[in-house]
Amino acid sequence: MLKKEQLYEGKAKKVYRTDNPDLYWIEYKDDATAFNGLKKGTIANKGELNNLISAYFFRLLAEQGVESHFVEEKSEREMVVKALQIIPVEVVVRNIAAGSLAKRLGLEEGTVLSCTVVENYYKSDELGDPLINDDHIRALNLATPGQMAAIREIALKVNDILRAHLAERELDLIDFKLEFGLHNGQLLLGDEISPDTCRFWDKNTREKLDKDRFRRDLGNVEEAYKEVYRRLTGR
Ligand code: UDP
Repeated sequence: MLKKEQLYEGKAKKVYRTDNPDLYWIEYKDDATAFNGLKKGTIANKGELNNLISAYFFRLLAEQGVESHFVEEKSEREMVVKALQIIPVEVVVRNIAAGSLAKRLGLEEGTVLSCTVVENYYKSDELGDPLINDDHIRALNLATPGQMAAIREIALKVNDILRAHLAERELDLIDFKLEFGLHNGQLLLGDEISPDTCRFWDKNTREKLDKDRFRRDLGNVEEAYKEVYRRLTGR
């Protein structure tokens, strides 16, 4: 397979065409942004770590029946994926209150939620990804009710699989964000699953091992991403 011209450059990844119209070639960058692009920086080796961690999670999910766009790794920081028409809804799953939920509902960070909370945000940089409900999604024709029901079911299954897997590695899955898309009419999980898009806390020390170290200037950002990779793979 051949890597062809760049189609798109996002905040954390570049997307290239390949000689196969069904497949895209993704390159993960070290660039990091937060607060809707207001804070910018780089995290050394983040591109490699997020590519390897995402590939690891997509394989784990595939083994347990959750299909994603992931096809194969091409290098330490590159993977090939199925081309998706992205549904512009960011799906956040939460087990423990943190970040915007803690702020919005006045909860202390670390409060265990009585049930898993699934939220939808409109994927729009201009609008700053506002929280939306099912009616907004229908009114804007972002996805059909059937698609949203399927997305919710997959998101909860991803939560069960990842939470159990991480617990065995002494990590708590606080929350995470997923994106979905259509590939020849088939609904697939897309984007990435990494410390950029999840919150991971050490089960015992409650140390944050995710992008909050960058967002909040906590230091040791690269070390935290490496620690997640090490807990998953032993490497
Ligand atoms: N998240 C993400 N991309 C976004 C917004 C959130 O990957 O544009 C992830 C974030 O890393 C966390 C979860 O979704 O794991 C919930 O984020 P939250 O709504 O608390 O927002 P934040 O505090 O990051 O602004």
